[in-house]
Amino acid sequence: MHIRKFTIDSDEQVVVKVLREVLDLYRISTADEDSAAFEEIVVRNETAEGNPLRVRTETIFVGTEGDAKRRSTETVARDGENPRSERHRLIKLNFYKLLREELSLPEAPWGILYGVRPSKIVHRWLDAGLPRDDIMERLHEDYGVGEDKAALLVDSSIYQRPFLRQTDSRTVSIYAGIPFCPSRCLYCSFPAFVLPGEKMLRRFTEVFFRDLAAVRGAVAQYGFRVQNIYVGGGTPTSLPDDVFDEMLRTLHGSFASDALVEFCVEAGRPDSMTPAKLQSMVRCQVNRVSANPQTMQARTLRRIGRRHEPEDIVRMYRDLRAAGIPCVNMDVIIGLPGEDVRDVEDTMEKIADLAPDDVTLHALALKKGSRLRENLSETELPDDETARDMFTAAMDCTKRMGLTPYYLYRQGYQSGQLENVGCCRPGAESMYNIQIMGERQTILGIGGAATSKIVSPTQKYLKTSFNPKEITVYLDKVDYYIEKRNRLLHEVYGEQED
Ligand code: SF4
Repeated sequence: MHIRKFTIDSDEQVVVKVLREVLDLYRISTADEDSAAFEEIVVRNETAEGNPLRVRTETIFVGTEGDAKRRSTETVARDGENPRSERHRLIKLNFYKLLREELSLPEAPWGILYGVRPSKIVHRWLDAGLPRDDIMERLHEDYGVGEDKAALLVDSSIYQRPFLRQTDSRTVSIYAGIPFCPSRCLYCSFPAFVLPGEKMLRRFTEVFFRDLAAVRGAVAQYGFRVQNIYVGGGTPTSLPDDVFDEMLRTLHGSFASDALVEFCVEAGRPDSMTPAKLQSMVRCQVNRVSANPQTMQARTLRRIGRRHEPEDIVRMYRDLRAAGIPCVNMDVIIGLPGEDVRDVEDTMEKIADLAPDDVTLHALALKKGSRLRENLSETELPDDETARDMFTAAMDCTKRMGLTPYYLYRQGYQSGQLENVGCCRPGAESMYNIQIMGERQTILGIGGAATSKIVSPTQKYLKTSFNPKEITVYLDKVDYYIEKRNRLLHEVYGEQED
């Protein structure tokens, strides 16, 4: 649906953003076209400061014949919450309510809840001692979250609690980013580059090891214990065998100790795996590998630009098992072009036959920068309802496999307004994934596009430093980014003796 004009009585950036997010939930866009459903929608908000803060919202729906309908509502802030965030939440909730009433729209699965880590809100309420049922109710009342999503969110958050607690101010994780892939997938919006030639690769490894040495120095200086090492990208296994081996050995030699719980490598694509890499992983005691088929449909693999067949994924999985890798995760994407519910069921049946320890379901995110988003007209993507049916079918299959959802996160522009969910057998939880989503542990990022999150010892705030996404900037300015990370570490942890 589209409308000709959307008018807000404020140019406050956050207010404009949250109100536009409501339109996005129902794919309502503004366009000057004859077929517009409304000439204009006007939103006015009045805030009564005080305790509690109140927000009254009036919405005027101006029809194409000039007719106008007014609707209004008023809501009250929660006691004890930040008044500024509450004001924005209430403005959004009010408009969501009024728009749904006027247009008889169904509830959005996640209501007005937006953001990558919805579990952080739940953890905050759990910390405050709220019982499960109260949290469920509050998610519905405050954010309009549907019952199914609320249960998934609350139960997976409760599941994480014992894992989240296994950290303290000196326990950290390491993320190593290798931003290369054998080829670029159609839907990819990651900063991943096709593996460069020898000269460029040599330069990358020099810079990467300089970055790594700086993190090793910080770990020693601040007396950190490394709980997890995660090698992601890109596809780290796209590196030549000798470079891959050196990288793993250096990571292991620099950060492995008795405190290490998880050493995970993303081996996303079978066309990048070799027996030598498998041996390197075994030698360096990698105990978790993510082997990501995304789909087991040959025609889709071709369509999304992957240069392998489903049988190659099966072969890689069996090789990982035969080598004794204790934990294997498989990623599946829901909502790929040309797929329907039957394709997802078939993919999941094939994955269930392999019996991985962990399956992560991703709802396709059509982010800016992906070729898929730029070429939407050339592809057929499932509609929201079909995407949701596909997701339900996949989740049902994980249940039959005996897997339990244990972490979730969301991205912008996800198919069916869905989420990404990690499901595993008991004992196969990824500590790194839980810690990175919880944002209660310091993560030090090395390599291209790697992010460092430095969490204060009280867990009250975090500071973030991003290595550049553009590979040439990373190569040219690594010292600047090392210095920035060191400065943040110093700000958060203070001066430490060597
Ligand atoms: S394997 Fe992953 S990072 Fe690499 S191109 Fe495909 S989607 Fe992007």
